[in-house]
Amino acid sequence: MLEIRGSGESDKSADDDHDWLSEVTLEVGPHPELSETQAKVYRLHTGVRGGLEGNKMTQDIKVCSNCVMDTTDSAIVFDDRGVCDHCNTFYDKIAPNWDTGEKGRAELDRMIETIQAEGKGKDFDCIIGMSGGIDSSYLVYAAKELMGLRPLVFHVDAGWNSQRLS
Ligand SMILES: [Zn+2]
Repeated sequence: MLEIRGSGESDKSADDDHDWLSEVTLEVGPHPELSETQAKVYRLHTGVRGGLEGNKMTQDIKVCSNCVMDTTDSAIVFDDRGVCDHCNTFYDKIAPNWDTGEKGRAELDRMIETIQAEGKGKDFDCIIGMSGGIDSSYLVYAAKELMGLRPLVFHVDAGWNSQRLS
């Protein structure tokens, strides 16, 4: 968060906040055009068992004051500044240990050297699971092209692969 420009009590009564006080039921389920296999994977991944499942929520969606996360994440928690727990976890736990400067680069280079040394005489230096999404695709690129590693890349088709690629 860059800065908080101000805060204060609302001059509105909580009883007047009809959007917050009224509830809607959000029903979710697998898209009807999914194959049975894809619908099964959807149910396994989301925990939605039957068809549609209702989740009661207020009409007023609260958004983190620092990022785009909102109350559609049913487990989200906001602090008194309106900052979500995902942001607070990042600032409290990840950022202090995330060295993107020369120190981090030196540590990464040492790790690469260790991996390469342990991979000598073997077919691969490491193994990478690749979904085909941006994150894992970039990781494979970075491992091979930027770090000079020889990754064994594996992919599991859980029913979401494009039929053109099969
Ligand atoms: Zn946030």
